[in-house]
Amino acid sequence: MQGLMMDMPLLISTILQQAARHFGDVEIVSRRVEGDIHRTDYRGLETRARRLADALSKAGVADGDRVATLAWNGYRHMELYYAAGGMGGVIHTINPRLHPDQIAWIVNHAEDKFLAFDITFLPIIEAIAARCPNVKGWIAMIDPDRQPSSDKIPGLINYEALLDGGSADYRWPTLDENSAVGLCYTSGTTGNPKGALYSHRSSVIHAYAAALPDAMGASSRDVILPVVPMFHVNAWGLPYVAPMVGAKLVFPGQHLDGQSIYELFEQEGVTYSAGVPTVWLGLLQYMRSKSLRFSTLKRTVIGGSACPPAMIRSFRDDYGVEVIHAWGMTELSPLGTLAKLQARHQGLPDEAQQKVLEKQGHVIFGIDMKIVDDQNQELPWDGSSFGNLLVRGPWVVREYFKSEGGNPLVDDEEGHGWFPTGDVATIDSDGYMQITDRSKDVIKSGGEWISSIDLENLALAHPAVANAAVIGIAHPKWDERPLLIVVKKPDAKVDRKDLIEFYDGKVAKWWIPDDVQFVDEIPLGATGKILKTRLRELFADYRLPDAA
Ligand code: AMP
Repeated sequence: MQGLMMDMPLLISTILQQAARHFGDVEIVSRRVEGDIHRTDYRGLETRARRLADALSKAGVADGDRVATLAWNGYRHMELYYAAGGMGGVIHTINPRLHPDQIAWIVNHAEDKFLAFDITFLPIIEAIAARCPNVKGWIAMIDPDRQPSSDKIPGLINYEALLDGGSADYRWPTLDENSAVGLCYTSGTTGNPKGALYSHRSSVIHAYAAALPDAMGASSRDVILPVVPMFHVNAWGLPYVAPMVGAKLVFPGQHLDGQSIYELFEQEGVTYSAGVPTVWLGLLQYMRSKSLRFSTLKRTVIGGSACPPAMIRSFRDDYGVEVIHAWGMTELSPLGTLAKLQARHQGLPDEAQQKVLEKQGHVIFGIDMKIVDDQNQELPWDGSSFGNLLVRGPWVVREYFKSEGGNPLVDDEEGHGWFPTGDVATIDSDGYMQITDRSKDVIKSGGEWISSIDLENLALAHPAVANAAVIGIAHPKWDERPLLIVVKKPDAKVDRKDLIEFYDGKVAKWWIPDDVQFVDEIPLGATGKILKTRLRELFADYRLPDAA
């Protein structure tokens, strides 16, 4: 027997319509590439998104067509999300920090029909336009009086002029909720990037899940500033979550340094933020150097790579800010787990509570996870057995765009497909997952595994260390041994011996790095994560002291 409830499709346009109706005067504040602070609200955003949708459809964007963006976080980017997605097209966010050759490859693979860009990225567009024959128009997201001209870009359009041609009478179409709405390519450190193609249904369910109190826990009382870029897995869902709950949004634009972010936090009364650890390193350093405090910030989500425990403590003890450590990936839209305390943890001593909060956390309802050994046998949830992390759920990819790379899923005995995350993890008896490593970064020493993340976190707790990375170096006897690579804090005095001794008593003796190398900076990838592949290239000729 079928249930007798209405069958209303889950569509992203309904999120914005709801926001315009119920939270119409809630502000969206953006620092623009024009240099000023721009203010609109959900009513204004929805009207402009409808006009843009009409303009795009008049320009030839049809169902399923990809509209790409190379843009910072801002209200125009948000309009594009809803216009392109809401009309039946697909919003394809591209990471501008990738090499232009990679960007051109992605644009061609996605067969993008239009590409909208902040003028910061004009040189990239000039470099790739001739190589991207499918793109019918390049849309400069800038006021008309600042419109650039370039003979290298055929079909250069002004965003505001395009929008002016669209009618506010446009009505959002009722689409199949399983139709595609967003496309995001993985960073692809090996092989070509692969596209995760989100549907309306997966995006709306993910936003509901993300907004739950034990997940991101956003509400209409929040002022949310996503530092995480809208080109990094949809800013972790915040462009859908904020209008869904009616939160004020503050977009930082291109200035992501500590001072610029701090100023916006204070000026706009930001209560809630989200970003990768490297961004917060910059902010905390700036605040320490100026002895500053937050007056409104209460919580921040930190993920994308492991959040060092020292950072969680500093946010809490020095600034009174709760860190919500989260784990996810492009293929998961991106949220999988978040670390919050449950009722069972309330009575625990502070130290034990901190240990829980340092983990990557508990799944949100909707995501199922397990850890398996190399024979695909499930491992116990005992907090110490570690294995390959597999997940499934309604916002997890089942295959990549254009079936790139074939079927990624691993079947279990009942025929359910699981997505292999490529991460190695433990799960404790309360269901809290902790990432040990990316499977290709884990250090294999004498047949056992050493977690590079654990060793990095410990190094970051040393007062003289500004940043740290650990990689495995080939060893004739042990297969691999850990090498600690360190950036010192300015004027700090620390040597190899100090750092090696710092590990004494904190990890098993055989985990302690064999050597330390000091560098001026650690290479970061396009989303702010340590680029271990690059580090391995840089240290390709390095030999460990006892293996020379
Ligand atoms: P991406 O799809 O580029 O966002 O990368 C996803 C990968 O980032 C995951 O598979 C993890 O390896 C890593 N990652 C994300 N969040 C965390 C976290 N909180 N701790 C450790 N690794 C993380």
